Amino acid sequence: MDIFEKLEILSDAAKYDASCSSSGSKRKNVNNGIGNGNFSGICHSWGADGRCISLLKILFTNACIYDCKYCINRRSNNVRRATFAPQEIADLTINFYKRNYIEGLFLSSAVIKNPDYTMELLIKTISILRNKYNFNGYIHCKTIPGCNKELINKLR
Ligand code: SF4
Repeated sequence: MDIFEKLEILSDAAKYDASCSSSGSKRKNVNNGIGNGNFSGICHSWGADGRCISLLKILFTNACIYDCKYCINRRSNNVRRATFAPQEIADLTINFYKRNYIEGLFLSSAVIKNPDYTMELLIKTISILRNKYNFNGYIHCKTIPGCNKELINKLR
C-alpha cells in the first residue's frame, strides 16, 4: 500500500476523532469552479494569539486491537486498515508544510499491539519532526490511554 492510499484511509478515519478543531465540510466542485471541500484531511485549530491554523489531521493507524462498540476503528468492523511508519508521517508533514498546505499536525491513533508500543511509535514520529527536521510548528499528539507515564513525559 503506498503512502497516499494510507493518507486517504487514515485522514478519513481521523474525522471521527473528537477535538476542539473543525474538520471542514463537504462541498463538491461545481460549474468548473476552483477547489473542493472535504470532511477529512485538513482541520483547523486556534493558536494562543487567536489565529486560525490549519493542521494535517490523521491517525497513525486504524488497525485497533480493541473493539469499542461505538468506534469505526473497532476490531470487528469491516473497514480498510492502514498503518503509517513514523518516517512517512514526518515526511508528509514537512512536505505539506513546505507547500504551505498546513501549519501543523494533529496526530491521533488507534491502538496497535499494545498502548506502550503505539505510544512509542507516536513519540518516534514527533521526534523525527522535532529533532531531525527541526520542525517548530504546532503539533497535537494523542496520548494513548493505558501507556506508561514515562512515555507521556517523553512527549514534552
Ligand atoms: S481503543 Fe480507540 S480506536 Fe480502538 S476501538 Fe476503542 S475507541 Fe476505537
